[in-house]
Amino acid sequence: MSRELLTYDAALEIMRGAIHPTKRTERLALENAVGRIIATDLHAEGDNPRFDNSGVDGYAISCAEDGLEGAVLVLSDSVSAGSQSLTRIEKGTAVRIFTGAPTPPGTWGIVMQEDVSLNGGRIQISRMVSQGDFIRRAGADFQFGKLLMKSGTRIDPSNVPLLAFNGEVRPPVFVRPKVAVISTGDEIVSSADIPSGPQIRDTNGPMLAALTGSVLGNWPEIVLVRDNRQEVVDAIWRASELSDVVILSGGASVGDRDFVASVLQQIGHIHFHGVKIRPGKPVLFGQVGASFVFGLPGNPASSYVCFELFVREALLRLTGALEPPLRWWPMRLGFDHKAMGRDDFVRARMQDGILQSAGEQGSFGIISPAEAEFLIRFPVDQDLYSGDTCLAAALG
Ligand code: AMP
Ligand code: MG
Repeated sequence: MSRELLTYDAALEIMRGAIHPTKRTERLALENAVGRIIATDLHAEGDNPRFDNSGVDGYAISCAEDGLEGAVLVLSDSVSAGSQSLTRIEKGTAVRIFTGAPTPPGTWGIVMQEDVSLNGGRIQISRMVSQGDFIRRAGADFQFGKLLMKSGTRIDPSNVPLLAFNGEVRPPVFVRPKVAVISTGDEIVSSADIPSGPQIRDTNGPMLAALTGSVLGNWPEIVLVRDNRQEVVDAIWRASELSDVVILSGGASVGDRDFVASVLQQIGHIHFHGVKIRPGKPVLFGQVGASFVFGLPGNPASSYVCFELFVREALLRLTGALEPPLRWWPMRLGFDHKAMGRDDFVRARMQDGILQSAGEQGSFGIISPAEAEFLIRFPVDQDLYSGDTCLAAALG
């Protein structure tokens, strides 16, 4: 890696060029479709509201004169949500109406029940009514044919009502990619085991599985592999046959016991290896057959940042999602930062509207990912100071 390293932006472009959004779709029951990416443009199949209706419990009246303060009106009918009054309101009369009920023909305005006094079969208006008061018009929210969801949008609880409105109870969604997670390293034991001597527990595997789960909804299997060339070959082979994406951690650099890059060169193809970022400089992206392979550095914070910088977007693209996950916004910085000659990604927290560093930033740490709410992107060659504006993205 002595050659000039790619910039983050250049590496992202290479990845986007290599990974095309999927076209494969399936239909799922709505309850199973939440979190998935819709594979069709959803157009409103009617107006919302469907009909003019009352926004309050009150009385529907037929003309301006009947809405004057002091007017006395005879009650002629009553209509509640789910029922309908089909006779026209006559001048001098009022129809009792409840929230959500269709307005009777001839409704000019509605007076709230709090603004009348009731006396036998009559009401007296105590506050003037204006035309259209408390009538919720058909189509005020949206009209027939409106684009409610674009293909490529994630189905979230907040847009489930749009699908339900259309009666779309089995929406078409894009098929999800299959993912494999491989932790490499002679020192690594399963997080279920007790480390002894120079061993450490695998923290990257569960983290990468969980991060993958946050995109796809399920945890992939985690495989542990020694720093042994043949083991790495076998593991990548097997994983790439079964999965659309293989995420490795460790062994991505160029040390004597780092095999991921050379193995990938041998059995597949490398799109990029090494990016001018911190942490995560040795990050590697390649392919074996149709399966995409990420080699993330073993340092946990590096693995974490590289997942957020590259892998999350790759997985989203493979689920058909249109939007890149990281959106960089100007935010107020609460500490000084010296330029590093690389894009420097700092895990940060928001305190009183100002971004502060989230704990130990060394790439060996696992506290900073746990505490971070935002990732700050410090520019390659510009020092920033407390009080300056920086670019930061909310973490997924
Ligand atoms: P490597 O990228 O293999 O050179 O590893 C860099 C550092 O990350 C070393 O200190 C490793 O022990 C550590 N590391 C590698 N893999 C993992 C893992 N799965 N969980 C926790 N730490 C790891
Ligand atoms: Mg290693």
